[in-house]
Amino acid sequence: VRHSESVTFGGGGLDRAAHLRSDRDRLAQMLSDETATALVTWRGKLLFGSGDQPKLACLPISDMFFKHAEAEPVFLGLVKSAPVFAYDVSRWEPEQLPESEGGLFDSQQIRDPALPDNHWLGDLRQVMARLSPLDAELAASAKAIIGWHGSHGFCAKCGAASGVSMGGWQRHCELCNSHHFPRTDPVVIMLITNGNNVLLGRSPGWPEPMFSLLAGFVEPGETLEAAVRREVAEEVGVKVGAVGYLASQPWPFPASLMVGCRGEALSTDLNPDPVEIAEAFWISREQIMAVFAGEDETILPARRGSVAHFLLENWLADRLD
Ligand SMILES: [Zn+2]
Repeated sequence: VRHSESVTFGGGGLDRAAHLRSDRDRLAQMLSDETATALVTWRGKLLFGSGDQPKLACLPISDMFFKHAEAEPVFLGLVKSAPVFAYDVSRWEPEQLPESEGGLFDSQQIRDPALPDNHWLGDLRQVMARLSPLDAELAASAKAIIGWHGSHGFCAKCGAASGVSMGGWQRHCELCNSHHFPRTDPVVIMLITNGNNVLLGRSPGWPEPMFSLLAGFVEPGETLEAAVRREVAEEVGVKVGAVGYLASQPWPFPASLMVGCRGEALSTDLNPDPVEIAEAFWISREQIMAVFAGEDETILPARRGSVAHFLLENWLADRLD
């Protein structure tokens, strides 16, 4: 796709300064630097501030709120040569807990007297398409890496508790001396076309009119092309010929890398696997255009900010090549 990096989470030019991660003295120095700031994550949510546009909140590293952090912060990189970290404050208890948490449409915002004025903890998906590219990159990085620490506290080899190392980009087990690296799980998401038509599907858990492109995890020992062909065959029984790469998107829910591909269908009969697909159909370019223009409400396309939305938009505008 031309301008493929303009996708949400497509990168904001963050200087990750990875060479500083192994330098414990520099890390300690940066943590007491007056210009240092930190993002706040709490049980999968991030701290945002209000203005005309929602903005990712970066608090001074000396902010008292960080006393709720259990572990040392992750060093995300340098922004205009100022260090930026991310703190996990999940053990902090707000005055009022939200009634339900998580899910595809988590619109709960937590406001609390302990947070700065006009700030709230919320789901990144609710604001992702309105953040600046740099804020989106910082937010995606913080959410993914802190989510990984949250579920990888113990050594996968020997079971002992492991510790944070390399400025938060590794975990190390003292007992068996193994190093553990953050996971990124590749997922293929595919724009399958047959002439003027594109294939859309809906997972069983999704609300009724919502449809998106088919997608699935890449398996060990598999190429991206093979994963595209296998997933489409498994999910709807369509045979796919030529496969090509279009664009990628980090998707920190919790740790995916979406790899957008295109594929040419060699057959059109649809036999959805009921476990994975509630409904699938071919839709013409003109129909999708009407859906995107808000003139056809029988279909709710993948939300803005997702790579599915991005690929469909670019297909409509004929900007894939
Ligand atoms: Zn170990």
